[in-house]
Amino acid sequence: MYKFETHLHTSNCSACAVSSGYDMVDAAKEKGYSGFVVTNHFYHGNTCVDRNLSWESFIAAYCEDYEITRDYGEKMGIQVFFGIEEGFAPGKEMLIYGISPEILTAHPEFIMFGAKEKAEFIHRMGGVTVCAHPFRSRSYIPNPDKEPDISLFDGIEGYNYCNAPEENEKALAFAKKNGLFATSGGDVHNSKNFGNAGIEFETQIKDYNDFLTRLKNGNYKLIMP
Ligand SMILES: [Zn+2]
Ligand SMILES: [Zn+2]
Repeated sequence: MYKFETHLHTSNCSACAVSSGYDMVDAAKEKGYSGFVVTNHFYHGNTCVDRNLSWESFIAAYCEDYEITRDYGEKMGIQVFFGIEEGFAPGKEMLIYGISPEILTAHPEFIMFGAKEKAEFIHRMGGVTVCAHPFRSRSYIPNPDKEPDISLFDGIEGYNYCNAPEENEKALAFAKKNGLFATSGGDVHNSKNFGNAGIEFETQIKDYNDFLTRLKNGNYKLIMP
């Protein structure tokens, strides 16, 4: 089995994360995972990168932690892919897969886009959108029960390790009802929590494109405790 964590933050990029990319790679190895996607909080999220930097410098600084993690992963035999978690409405976040740092650098207008334009742009560029932890009920999130706008998303994070069981049940049912693929994500901010979620493939993942194709086809099993 080839396990991947789909939702993970590193401490030099996400203000709320406590573990470095090195610790995350070590945790993946220890827990028998093949790899993970780094999905640090982006411009409209809890990033610790200075938003006053020029766009190019912002992207370079944002990607640095991913690059360090990927390089260490390569040494350790752990596949590390590039993703993003970006806010698109108050308290609501989108996981973005398959958009490269180069695409981001070339499109500073991305940050001005509203939710619809963001999703359209990502799809035009060949990326994949997943609604992060829908139905999460927290004081900072207005309307936790509001259903995600399915025109924005290819998939739904059906299981999020940090969500309550009833929130996850709603998310899984929503994905099923709407024919969207569901993912499982640990929302890992601390390497101690690595290994409780993710997706599992039967055969080895060749590269990020292979990962994305199988994701879109729902060709995997969900890891849930
Ligand atoms: Zn966070
Ligand atoms: Zn997250």
